[in-house]
Amino acid sequence: MTGEISRRGIIGLGLGAAALSTVGRAQPRDAVGFALVGLGKLSLGQLVPAFRNCRHAQLTGLVSGHADKANRIASEQNLSANAVYSYANFDRIAVDPAIEVVYIVLPNFMHAEYTIRALKAGKHVLCEKPMASNVADAEAMVAAAKAANRKLMIAYRCQYEPLNLFGMRLVRSGALGKTRLVVTNMGRQADPNDPSDAWRLDMQKSGGGALADMGIYGINGARYLLNEEPVEVRAHAQTDRRDPRVQTVEDLITWECRFTSGAISTGSTSFNQAGTMAWEVYGERGKMIAEPGCFYNGNRLTVTGAEQPKIAEIDQFAREMDWMADVVRGRAPLVSPGEEGLQDMRLMRAILDSVARGGTPVRTDWGYRRAVDPAVAVGA
Ligand code: NAD
Repeated sequence: MTGEISRRGIIGLGLGAAALSTVGRAQPRDAVGFALVGLGKLSLGQLVPAFRNCRHAQLTGLVSGHADKANRIASEQNLSANAVYSYANFDRIAVDPAIEVVYIVLPNFMHAEYTIRALKAGKHVLCEKPMASNVADAEAMVAAAKAANRKLMIAYRCQYEPLNLFGMRLVRSGALGKTRLVVTNMGRQADPNDPSDAWRLDMQKSGGGALADMGIYGINGARYLLNEEPVEVRAHAQTDRRDPRVQTVEDLITWECRFTSGAISTGSTSFNQAGTMAWEVYGERGKMIAEPGCFYNGNRLTVTGAEQPKIAEIDQFAREMDWMADVVRGRAPLVSPGEEGLQDMRLMRAILDSVARGGTPVRTDWGYRRAVDPAVAVGA
């Protein structure tokens, strides 16, 4: 169907990220054990295969409501029956030394409960984006990580991805001149008959439809490209309530963020558009266009006014899990901590507040500053 590209089609381009390398690497003896919570599309399509490409992370646990599915995957992955947990007996991971990190891959509204339970069980947590379905839950997650003295990382894979890192470094280098404008567009067609999309179209469960699912990449992207935080946001929505998909969420949302440097970012997102995850940076002297810029693979960058780079493709999920393993072992800084996820939750709320007030500007200068710049901390 023209223009109707499925999420898997657009961001996977038909390939699992792990398909980039079929040769597994032997994990060292101090590999960090990960349990996946939620065995849906992302876990089965990307994360389970990505462990083959990990150097420091190892799959050691599965948490699912479907025992048959979990047992089948355990057997395929050479895990014993003891490595399989249900949501009911999940807290028993506390006494499982093979699990050091719990990776939350559930619908957004379940992230807070399972993150907090995992932290209370003494585990570190890697949590999918958006970190929660509302700001209060996100705040509770950050507080729980502090209270438990455990690491909480949000799975912002693009902050560890070579093309996006190149873009950040080119902006920081000044080669394009002062950045004037960042434009992001993230969207696709949602399928209400796909259970994986049904919860995304439910405001209570997703926390914001396309904005929470895909727009968040543009909000986060503008922030990491510019390496500063917006001081003011205003936004509009165009939602046709005759479309059964958008009964509780907005459809097309556009927003504008102002930054202290004078740069402006504009973003848009929709679940009723041709699929893309694109960003553009316009400087005084040069520009770069990443289209796509945030897919699992096949990303492309066109630079004008500076040298065109050659960028390696990696397994983004393997890198992100390895990064978390290195954080746990004290070998790497926490680049995308809970606070980074909370900032996007607050900005999404500001965008929805502005939409509700007919585009009135909402101040967002509450003082958040990123602790670690990925452009500095993460290698190429
Ligand atoms: P999914 O719907 O395919 O999988 C969710 C899993 O949770 C399913 O196995 C489902 O059975 C289970 N589940 C348990 N209780 C449930 C309930 N009450 N309602 C619905 N499902 C329930 O979703 P997904 O695409 O795998 O996404 C999971 C998370 O990963 C989301 O937070 C999403 O935003 C994130 N995600 C991130 C990326 C990325 O590139 N980083 C890509 C896709 C998804």
